[in-house]
Amino acid sequence: MKLNKNEIIDFVNILKQTYPDATCSLDFSTPFELVVAVMLSAQCTDERVNKTTPSIFAKYSTPYDFANIELSELEQLIHPCGFYKNKAKNIKACAQKIVKDFNGVVPQTMEELTSLPGVGRKSANVILLEVFGIAEGIAVDTHAKRISNRIGLSSETTPEKIEQDLIKLFPKEFLKDINHLFVWHGRKTCDARNPKCNECSVRNYCNSAKI
Ligand code: SF4
Repeated sequence: MKLNKNEIIDFVNILKQTYPDATCSLDFSTPFELVVAVMLSAQCTDERVNKTTPSIFAKYSTPYDFANIELSELEQLIHPCGFYKNKAKNIKACAQKIVKDFNGVVPQTMEELTSLPGVGRKSANVILLEVFGIAEGIAVDTHAKRISNRIGLSSETTPEKIEQDLIKLFPKEFLKDINHLFVWHGRKTCDARNPKCNECSVRNYCNSAKI
């Protein structure tokens, strides 16, 4: 189903009413802490990341801290989040680049953020929005991808192409809400295996509703 402009606005407003508390669920208190948390959240739940990071951030928090940390210690600290060798390598290299090229300050543009090791466009979208309030695009994660395909907002399969379809579809003022709303909708209703179509508030807008 192709949604027209008014239907798109109704669709977003219904999701906002359904999930009024939809926000970023990663815990952080500085921009670089979010960079670390976003990297740890790849192939891992936000819940597990939030359980892992407090003890790390109590000791290491700034890019300078992580640039100088022993790789083996970092691997041990982030072990519960999985893929710890690769994630540790990226976190340390990212911190070193921020120290070397950006005076220890997390940069504020898509181009600069995606130049950091381990930071792709999805992560950069999250960092821009949550830290700097800049909604340049839409972070397309597994929830946003699945829901966009099921509803019929995009038939593309790569996050980059789905993001471009969504950017064309949604008015700019909605960009900041879409990822949060899709993540919450995916977790609570449009489950990957068992979507609860009967309880779904946007089933009338969905190509895949099974009722
Ligand atoms: S109707 Fe079903 S498939 Fe469509 S968005 Fe709702 S839960 Fe997902």
